[in-house]
Amino acid sequence: MSGCVLFLRRAAAARACRALVALTAGRRPLRTSPPSPSFAKELFLGKIEKCCFHVTENISEWEQELEEDFDPAVTHPPLTLDSRKIDREGRIPDDTLEKLKSLGLFGMQIPEEYGGLGLSNTMYARLGEIISLDGSITVTLAAHQAIGLKGILLVGNEEQKAKYLPRLASGEHIAAFCLTEPSSGSDAASIRTRATLSEDKKHYVLNGSKVWITNGGLASIFTVFAKTEVVDSDGSVKDKMTAFIVERDFGGVTNGKPEDKLGIRGSNSK
Ligand SMILES: Cc1cc2nc3c(=O)[nH]c(=O)nc-3n(C[C@H](O)[C@H](O)[C@H](O)COP(=O)(O)OP(=O)(O)OC[C@H]3O[C@@H](n4cnc5c(N)ncnc54)[C@H](O)[C@@H]3O)c2cc1C
Repeated sequence: MSGCVLFLRRAAAARACRALVALTAGRRPLRTSPPSPSFAKELFLGKIEKCCFHVTENISEWEQELEEDFDPAVTHPPLTLDSRKIDREGRIPDDTLEKLKSLGLFGMQIPEEYGGLGLSNTMYARLGEIISLDGSITVTLAAHQAIGLKGILLVGNEEQKAKYLPRLASGEHIAAFCLTEPSSGSDAASIRTRATLSEDKKHYVLNGSKVWITNGGLASIFTVFAKTEVVDSDGSVKDKMTAFIVERDFGGVTNGKPEDKLGIRGSNSK
């Protein structure tokens, strides 16, 4: 045992000596910078190291003001909610929906030229964090703009954007995203809804049914996924999926009863 201690002491002395020699030679033998945090390690330990996140996008002054306006700690918040009532009654009251619309919350990421708030992704996420005080409202707003109208925003042509976005931004029109079907959930490519070109080749006729569509009973604009026959590059005809903009006013759109849920009873799923 004592030999071992002695050995350790000798080893430590040798290390110290080597360090001294190195120092006098002008090198830095010791690591003096602070240890760099490991995000993955902390995650495994159940901790999120905020130091590892760097927000690179600048928040404009008015975005900052907007965020402060919605802070639940402010004395006169622009929106007061009775979440228990929303959950009990299974619907968001009309005056609350109107308030959400007047605050511009149906067009958070729609560019200002189309009447939206034109928020950045960062600001959308920050505002979303504050609005998420009520689950039903979060789901309603998210289904409208994070999926319902997103296709028009991302890949719509100029005519489609000009036609649909202003009324979606104001909330006059509510959007829904229609992918899921009674026999198709995670395996989205197995949808059976079919779109066929009319005889005069001027429009498509859609046939099929969708389930679990958030805002399904409220929406007037739907992004509907359907299979169409597409001629492939090798000349063969294949079934491929296409997203269609469907207006309720086109006719032929019917709804079943709203689904009941837990916790987000005030959001509308049909
Ligand atoms: C509140 C709510 C709102 C919704 N809103 C919308 C909406 O707005 N628009 C819309 O289109 N849909 C909506 N949906 C539907 C939702 O997108 C589907 O529920 C989802 O895609 C899963 O499909 P499913 O329920 O048929 O489950 P399934 O696909 O049948 O999956 C059941 C289980 O099997 C697992 N599983 C499936 N496939 C595999 C696999 N290959 N390997 C291993 N495990 C697998 C799944 O993880 C899951 O746990 C909503 C659903 C809910 C509950």
